[in-house]
Amino acid sequence: MKYVDMLLDLLFPRKCAFCHRLTQNGAAVCPRCREKLPYTSYSARQDFPHLDACYSPLYYTDEVRQSLLRYKFGGLRMYASIYGEFLAKCIDENRISCDSISWVPLSRRRLRKRGYDQARLLAEDLSGRLSIPCASTLRKVRNNARQSATGDAEKRRRNVMGVYEAIPAADIRGKTILLVDDIVTTGATLSEAASVLQKAGAASVIGLTLARRKE
Ligand SMILES: [Zn+2]
Repeated sequence: MKYVDMLLDLLFPRKCAFCHRLTQNGAAVCPRCREKLPYTSYSARQDFPHLDACYSPLYYTDEVRQSLLRYKFGGLRMYASIYGEFLAKCIDENRISCDSISWVPLSRRRLRKRGYDQARLLAEDLSGRLSIPCASTLRKVRNNARQSATGDAEKRRRNVMGVYEAIPAADIRGKTILLVDDIVTTGATLSEAASVLQKAGAASVIGLTLARRKE
């Protein structure tokens, strides 16, 4: 361990990104979580309309939820690089290939409030790890109620209809695009975003999220 790392560890002891307990040697994820996290393993893949498939390395259990809340609402944007490792492993294990990486964007209003787009940070981290280009392909043109506060699948589907638009200059036509988001529940948001990319000429769209709902 480098001296500067030791010093940083002393000054800013690091907590595990998932259980939030102090870790030794500045580890981002403690050994217990590394072993016991709710890995989806063979249930990583789900099918939703307009997507070739959707993959997620983790189930959305309470520790994953708490971690994502700190990431999205607690300003811990550095978690993107921790989650990126899990996403890259999921890509590798499921032998997913794509031409480019993109993300499901936040509205301008929410982006201003938060200061960063959590799905974009994940897509960019993954792009660096896989050496696959990352580009903005969608924009949110209408503000809607938060999906998590919206209720059943049909209500969620209606809540996201027409909220995204393809960016005219984006390189979409004929491409296989990996569309990244933090979590998938009913798949309504990813499906809607993927349908917009398909209408803009995408050859196929594959979803990738850090977490998925446990059935
Ligand atoms: Zn932990």
